[in-house]
Amino acid sequence: MIKLEKLHKYYDRQHVLKGIDLTVEKGEVVAVLGPSGSGKSTLLRCINFLEDPTSGIVEIGGKRVDAATAKKKEIFALRTATGMVFQQYNLFKNLTVLQNVSVGLTSVKRMKKDAADKKGIEMLEQVGLSSKLSHYPAQLSGGQQQRVGIARALALDPEVLLFDEPTSSLDPELVDEVLATIRRVADTGKTMFIVTHELNFAREISDRVIFMEDGVIIEQGTAEQIFTEPAVERTRQFLGKAV
Ligand code: ATP
Ligand code: MG
Repeated sequence: MIKLEKLHKYYDRQHVLKGIDLTVEKGEVVAVLGPSGSGKSTLLRCINFLEDPTSGIVEIGGKRVDAATAKKKEIFALRTATGMVFQQYNLFKNLTVLQNVSVGLTSVKRMKKDAADKKGIEMLEQVGLSSKLSHYPAQLSGGQQQRVGIARALALDPEVLLFDEPTSSLDPELVDEVLATIRRVADTGKTMFIVTHELNFAREISDRVIFMEDGVIIEQGTAEQIFTEPAVERTRQFLGKAV
């Protein structure tokens, strides 16, 4: 579960998140939509303190952190409760596919190498890459690299998975395989928070859609509600234009 209370973020004097209140239930899949610059990535990054929120409270799986008094230890606990999948895959170029997935297990989780490799192989099977264990990232397609990124995030058994436009740096023909992988993960009951411009995907995968503009959640509802009868004019405009 994720709970955000009155989350604010300023970059200098620019007020980018304007008091976000949000609860994401365990197992819920939430898609975040909104125009460029509305604060979607900032929101995602504030959830695990990759960016420090200026004020407000973030709670994940019972770990509650107040931005005003956040201690390193608390932030570390939040981070280990989240897995993040980035637009750029951020894989280690000099490590194999398997090493990319298992390195977090030996370092962060202090697992023995054998156990870490076993778990890594399991995760790579889940994303359909068990035949590429010894390959290096440069030998993979963008879609495959992104699936390694997903396996790496999953391996740490995070409470929630955060995705920031996981398909937007991919060639169009590679998007589907990554979306299918994310869908499979969603089906396992993982709590997921996904910033995406893929409207059809958002509609299909999410239990709830959140629409942001200018640092505020201006509308939220089931995918069905938001896509068929948005209550707010701005949402209607955005979806109308983008579909
Ligand atoms: P996009 O759809 O283009 O990815 P977004 O909704 O993710 O947009 P953010 O990246 O959260 O938007 O940015 C929100 C605002 O905060 C923008 O005006 C942006 O310029 C500003 N901003 C984001 N990151 C920083 C930063 N590190 N330093 C200063 N300003 C930033
Ligand atoms: Mg963004």
